[in-house]
Parts: sequence; C-alpha cells; structure tokens
Amino acid sequence: MAKKKLLNWIELSRSALKKNVATLSALAPGKILSVSVKANAYGHGLSEIVSILKDQKEVTYLTVHSLEEAILCRQSGWQRKIITLGPILPENAEAVIEYDLEPAIFTKNFLQQLGKISNKYGRSVKTHLKLETGTHRQGITEKELPAFASLYKKYDTLKKPYGAYTHFANIEDTTSHEYANYQLSQFNTMVKKLKALKIKPTIRHTASSAATILFKKTHFDLVRPGIAVYGHWPSKETYLSYLLEGGKNDLFQPVLTWKTRVTQLKHLPSNAFVGYGCTYKTTSPTRLAVLPIGYYDGYSRALSNQAYVLIKGKRAPVRGRVCMNIIVVDITDIKKVNLEDEVLLLGQTKRDGISAEQIAEWAKTINYEILARLSPAIKRIIVP
Ligand SMILES: *Cc1c(COP(=O)(O)O)cnc(C)c1O
Repeated sequence: MAKKKLLNWIELSRSALKKNVATLSALAPGKILSVSVKANAYGHGLSEIVSILKDQKEVTYLTVHSLEEAILCRQSGWQRKIITLGPILPENAEAVIEYDLEPAIFTKNFLQQLGKISNKYGRSVKTHLKLETGTHRQGITEKELPAFASLYKKYDTLKKPYGAYTHFANIEDTTSHEYANYQLSQFNTMVKKLKALKIKPTIRHTASSAATILFKKTHFDLVRPGIAVYGHWPSKETYLSYLLEGGKNDLFQPVLTWKTRVTQLKHLPSNAFVGYGCTYKTTSPTRLAVLPIGYYDGYSRALSNQAYVLIKGKRAPVRGRVCMNIIVVDITDIKKVNLEDEVLLLGQTKRDGISAEQIAEWAKTINYEILARLSPAIKRIIVP
C-alpha cells in the first residue's frame, strides 16, 4: 500500500525536546540527568522519545514506572541506565539482571529476592532506596531502616543501596514551599542514618521538574524531571514561583502537536440539536465540521461544549458531546473549509494555539493527565 494520508496523528519536535533537555541540564549543572519517560513518555510515545534521547549525551538515565516500560526502553535501543520507580513483583526479580535495571526499593520482600537472584548470578545490582519523608505513598520510614540495612549487608551483590531518594508531596501545587523544606530536612536526617548504619548511598536524588527549576538544594547528585522535558510547566504555581525569583518565561518549548482532518461538512438550520443527549441547539443557521477523533483517543468527554480546535488558524468551538471516535465543531465563521483540511487539536501556531494547560483547564484537570492519556494508538511522527 502506498504511504497513507493520516487522519489522526501526533507530531513530535526533535529540536524542542533537545532544547528542553539542554535547558534542564543547564539548570542543574554537573548533575546526573534522568529523564522520566513513564506513562508512554507522558503520552508522547515511548519508542519515539527514546529514539531522540539516545542521541542526547546529557541524558544518563531514563526513569520509568514499570518493568514493562523498562523492557520497552531496551527494545527501543536504550543502552544507558534505567531506574524503575514502581513495584516489581519478587517473582520477576530476574528481569532486573536480564535487562540491567536499577530498581526502586520499598519492600523487604523484593530486596530479599533481588539479593538471592543477584547472588545466584554473581552480578551486583544497583538499587535506589525510596525514603518516606512525608508524601506517604511509596517509601520506607526511619524505623524500618535497620531491617533494610541488614538485608543489604546480607548479600555481597547488594551491600548497600546505590541511590537513596524521595519525592515531594507539595512542590507543584503551591507557592509556599514549607512542606518541601520539611521533607528535605527529613531526607537529610534519614541519609545520615543510612550512613550511621553503614549503608551510605552513593547518589541521592529528590528533584522532579518543579524542584529542578526552583530549588538548587534539592538537586543533590541526580535530577529526575519529567513534564518539563516535554516542554510544559509542572503548574501555574511553579511558573509563578519562577517568575517571582526573576526568571524569564521562555524556558521550555512544547514537543507535541496533535492534528486531525475534516471528514464531513454540514449545514444546520436554526434550532437543530448536535450530538448525544441533545446538549447543543443551534440558534441560527450553522455550518459544522465532523472530526474523526474522540475520547478513545484521549480527547476527554469533559471537553464537550467547552473546547475549541483551530482550522485555518481560526477557532472552531466544539458543539455537543465528545463521542468515542467523533467530535463536531462549529465553522460558521471560518471561510472556505474543505474536506481533509488539517485541524489542530493541541499545539501552537504562529498566532494562536491550544495548550495542554488550556485543555486541562477546560477539562478541570492538569496538563499531565491530558498528555498522559493521549492514546498510544495514535500515529507519532518525529519532525525536525
Ligand atoms: C513522575 C516522577 C518524577 C517526574 O515528575 P515531573 O513533575 O513530571 O517532573 C520524578 N520523580 C518521581 C518519583 C516521579 O514519580
């Protein structure tokens, strides 16, 4: 079959990704950079993002959530280091050796199993001990440290954690950083304790994007940004905090653009309904364009009667409910719209744009969710 014309696709800007990586690297000079590619690289497409990051010498590590994601990184040609942040079942501990991974540790079960397996193969394994400092999600408390210390010392191939890390609970959502500072002091206390227990970690890390941008003292030996790598601010509060410190606003450039095409045009009279539930009724003769994307693709149903798309650079409001595979937009005020015309769902043009942040506001959620839920089935194209 000849090369197909696409109806629904995502463009990934190689230069934007490279620029953001360089910016983050410059924000944390001399620190190891671990790029978060969990959640299908924040919805961008894991194999495509990895294929670009492979050429970025600044990136030493990838951070992923699951074993499956780590394996996908290897299959996409990533040969450098990988940290898995999420749980791995003890039954699957051998995969850590097979795929040369550095897993997060927060259960004794898994550490024990890893010790046994690594001993069996005579291969030392680097682990990252997750310290509980107040997020109360994954992580081990100060009280549990001695038990973990004895497990580490029991196995020659483990000896001590390679990394010790924590994650902040309240750094994106606020311009007050009291709680982050509290967590940081907890982290320092626990690292001291690790030293006293003779399992002093080689590297320490705490910084997501917001911490990397705002707080040098959270950088330690390695930074683990995610959202900013893709060109998005973690939150308005982070952006505001940055501006208050005298920062300038063009730090990051969004990597992702999502497009579709007009697949049907129609005229409606006044007082006609559009879509399921008859939630929209025309008030005058109206021209509509039908677009072949819906909530299956990650265009949230919460955008029903809320969002707009750009056609010929002009805003076309979504009318009626977002369906599984279809949305309908109003083009009454846009001249000369034709079948197969390109439609911008998410992205920037010279004069206007639809940001992930804008869509998140319409859908009453955060930019992370809008991006992460873009369907992996949408075709990804890397553009310069
Ligand atoms: C996702 C994640 C990050 C990256 O967070 P961003 O806000 O996307 O930069 C860093 N550390 C941990 C533990 C994470 O889960």
